[in-house]
Amino acid sequence: MLFLTAKPDFVPDKILLLPDNIANQIAAGEVIQRPASAVKELLENAVDAGATEIKLIIQDAGKSLIQVIDNGSGMSETDARMCFERHATSKIQKIEDLFQIRTMGFRGEALASIAAVAQVELKTKKADEDAGTYIEVENSVVKKQEPVAVPGGTSIAMKNLFFNVPARRNFLKSNAAELRHIIDEFTRVALSFPNVFFSLTSNGQQVFHLEAGSLKQRIVQLLGNNYNAKLVSVKEETDYMNIYGFVGKPETAKKTRGDQYFFVNNRFIKSPYLNHAVMNAYQEMIPSDSFPLYVLFIDLNPEQVDVNVHPTKQEIKFEDEKIVYAFVQAAIKHALAQFSITPTLDFDLDASIQQLPSIQQPFTESKQSAAASTSIFKGFTQKHQAHFIEKSDLKNWKDFYESTESEMGNRKSEVSSLMPENHESFSSNLKHQTSDFSELTQLLNTYLVIPSKNGFLIIHQQSAHERVKYEQLKKAGKENPVAVQKTMFPSTLELSPADSAVMEEIINDLHYLGYLIEPFGKNAFVIQGTPADVDAGNEKHVIDILLEQYKHFNPELKFSKREKLIRSLARQQSIKAGTRLTQKEMQQLVNDLFACEQPNINPDGNPTYLEFKQEQLERMFGK
Ligand code: ADP
Ligand code: MG
Repeated sequence: MLFLTAKPDFVPDKILLLPDNIANQIAAGEVIQRPASAVKELLENAVDAGATEIKLIIQDAGKSLIQVIDNGSGMSETDARMCFERHATSKIQKIEDLFQIRTMGFRGEALASIAAVAQVELKTKKADEDAGTYIEVENSVVKKQEPVAVPGGTSIAMKNLFFNVPARRNFLKSNAAELRHIIDEFTRVALSFPNVFFSLTSNGQQVFHLEAGSLKQRIVQLLGNNYNAKLVSVKEETDYMNIYGFVGKPETAKKTRGDQYFFVNNRFIKSPYLNHAVMNAYQEMIPSDSFPLYVLFIDLNPEQVDVNVHPTKQEIKFEDEKIVYAFVQAAIKHALAQFSITPTLDFDLDASIQQLPSIQQPFTESKQSAAASTSIFKGFTQKHQAHFIEKSDLKNWKDFYESTESEMGNRKSEVSSLMPENHESFSSNLKHQTSDFSELTQLLNTYLVIPSKNGFLIIHQQSAHERVKYEQLKKAGKENPVAVQKTMFPSTLELSPADSAVMEEIINDLHYLGYLIEPFGKNAFVIQGTPADVDAGNEKHVIDILLEQYKHFNPELKFSKREKLIRSLARQQSIKAGTRLTQKEMQQLVNDLFACEQPNINPDGNPTYLEFKQEQLERMFGK
């Protein structure tokens, strides 16, 4: 007591309750990260309200305006006020409801978040009421409310996103990038509700106009006409779960992960595990490095899934994952077999599917490529990699060189006069050295083996060439643009609206890297020229792949546009694994690789070569 009263009264208490608007702004950060997140929430609210017509209007990629107009249930005057309160929802009432969710939203956070970080104008009217309600909210505060004459339904306009949180506003990407995110979200919602009319208007131009129709029509409207007649229907029903949707015929498989959509109870999800199930069903029908289209809907009792594990709700947990996996795989095998694309495949839901080791393990791209190598080599690289990859830069390369050199005996003086301090002489050393080899050996059309005096190197030809190309392009980017070779017969490219947005974003950088491409009307472009060393006649394909790769760069990686492009190009122009090389080509590749500034890794950070030293080999043989 004495202690308490002795407290000097000039020390103030420290804990304050945050004002509502600040608390809301902080909480909003989780729900609304970018314009596309608001688009998703507003579209889903319209769907939840039972709308049959939903129009999305945006300005400046959603940075200045996102408006969603629906003809759904509308809200009463009281609800119109309530909906901006945090945790205000009409979709759940008691905790048990959480396990029976059939609506897209349920947290009651979206509108509160939007109202905290933008200026919002809401107009809404229930069908059976005479007057509607108009409300203006800014910074979580209602600015204005009055009756208004409007048709039944709701219109929400959200202006100047993050106007009051400059740090977040600055964090937004270019309009082209933000627009692409919006189109992604729009596509997902529009795919899951093909019986609802959707339109998207961007800066006064209508990008999508999707009449209500079948799922197949919706897929073709959204993802492109070239899928028409190339879709295989998937449909299986059981007591436990149903699956329906479409997969692309094997010939439509693309070189990069593109049009792949899973929906569980109509909610878009990302699931590498289920993706693996689909890929497995295609095994041996498509090259292992290509990706088929799929738009698949899994319906199961909501009690069997937990949609709540991730705040933005893209990941879900299944009660029994393995059953879902086996079911998906069997359904797709069945569908593909029925269309006599594949002769005889077992498509029963048999136990053996569930016991495949691959089911137990996550699927990674490195696994895919590892499967290409022999088991012995696999054993080497995977088990012992840690010992052998010289995670080095030039220092270790120099070690390698030096130990080689010291054993070269009679050539010592000659070589040491070349003893490098810079990279160029490294390469000349290596040239010197490689010319010493009678032959370079290529294994599995993928690996080059070079003996060294104290062991040997295994070079991965594609990774090595990616490094070479990457440095060449990087240099071109820094110094002079790559020379453009004008094509004799310019070809036109028709792109989906989403791809056009990407193309516009990168068109200038592409020019710098040797691709001259010009806009040509709505969603179309003309390829006027390509780099001199790219084969003519193939431009369209090259650009297609480039766009695919560019789009699927992990958005978390903060590369500049040009860096992304250079990486995509390097990968694309590289000699692929599985390509037979002549002696001359091998020599050239090895020389080019070791002329690089950082020869030991490819642009993705994977090793370009592994070094096996004699003493390490001996240790492995127990000597
Ligand atoms: P949630 O969707 O998780 O319930 P929201 O913040 O998105 O939370 O919306 C709050 C509530 O406002 C909803 O539960 C719904 O009752 C109402 N609401 C929102 N948008 C609409 C709309 N377009 N039409 C009718 N009611 C809506
Ligand atoms: Mg909602």
